[in-house]
Amino acid sequence: MSNGIIRHATAAVAVDGVRMGGEHPVVVQSMTNTDTADVAATLAQVAELARAGSELVRLTVNTEAAARAVPVIREGLERQGLSVPLIGDFHFNGHKLLEGNPDCAQALAKYRINPGNVGRGESRDERFARMIEIACRHDKAVRIGVNWGSMDQELVVRMMDENANAAEPRENQWMIREIMVTSALESARRARELGLPKERIVLSCKMSGVQDLIGVYRALAARCDYALHLGLTEAGMGSKGIVASSAALAVLLQEGIGDTIRVSLTPEPGGSRTQEVLVAQQLLQSLGLRSFSPSVIACPGCGRTSSTFFQALARDIQEYLARQMPRWRECYPGVEEMTVAVMGCVVNGPGESKHADIGISLPGSGEVPVAPVYEDGVKTVTLKGERIAQEFQQLVERYVERRYGV
Ligand code: SF4
Repeated sequence: MSNGIIRHATAAVAVDGVRMGGEHPVVVQSMTNTDTADVAATLAQVAELARAGSELVRLTVNTEAAARAVPVIREGLERQGLSVPLIGDFHFNGHKLLEGNPDCAQALAKYRINPGNVGRGESRDERFARMIEIACRHDKAVRIGVNWGSMDQELVVRMMDENANAAEPRENQWMIREIMVTSALESARRARELGLPKERIVLSCKMSGVQDLIGVYRALAARCDYALHLGLTEAGMGSKGIVASSAALAVLLQEGIGDTIRVSLTPEPGGSRTQEVLVAQQLLQSLGLRSFSPSVIACPGCGRTSSTFFQALARDIQEYLARQMPRWRECYPGVEEMTVAVMGCVVNGPGESKHADIGISLPGSGEVPVAPVYEDGVKTVTLKGERIAQEFQQLVERYVERRYGV
């Protein structure tokens, strides 16, 4: 897609069949919230996330039972024809779990290691080294995932003390970013000394504040060319989480920073985990970085519309496109870039409809009750009566066949 964004140059990283960094598109990933040891529940959720479009799925590996479950989950996915790579999230005991469960170490495509949660002093260095050596032996990628909520306290104390004794101490906010970037880069340097190539390393520095996150990633990108994983940690629920994540990630992505993203949303009780995948896709699509499904351009409605008819039509079209996409994706390459306009009156309706690939301009209050349809900028037919929605869907189907059929 042409979007004018100049990507920050990073090393390309292979995570099984998924490529990120370098010239590769920004990859969408997500994380399960099931108990990994519960194979059935975790397998079902990974499959759901993968089918929703998550290109990588991370799961926590926190116990022996979870580590033993990982290869079983991997096999279950293969049986369903799902090759989505799995990422193991390790804290505290990752070295033991990986060493004691070679099948788990092999079944995972990437290990996420939080340098703040590995251990202290010499034991931290030793445990970190043991995990990196296993990654090298199995040819796995590693994300060194620094998180402000679980920083290496020895590093924090050392750098804060040095700053306090400096002739011109830096402000706290600057120091926090510097400590996080230092933690990520020092850990990456150590991993490379242990034999892990740059093409197997992904870095992240997650924070929960939008401005903090933007600042720390700008600093990180300026000082390295490792592939970067973006995500606002603890973004929250509902619109707050979506808006905060989008605000932070959009600024960075627009600056070309970020090779893979995760939108960390707390689901509503009973809500689907897949929402975070859809939000990540919509964010990338809104920025023109990737296309996942056709875009519906719908006006918000105003006093010129006498009913909610056009809102219902916009919703119906959106749902219709979502239903068709699994089949269309197979049969009609490029259909994900199609734009469909559903407009409420003559003010902007014909104009937006002409600019879309296919569009309909519904009648506003006081207008003649007809709905002109435009295809590739040209008015092709005028619909009227009770079946406008169904007839428009048929026109969209025919348009897709004609435009994207091989
Ligand atoms: S297109 Fe018409 S109905 Fe829709 S917001 Fe604009 S003026 Fe209102």
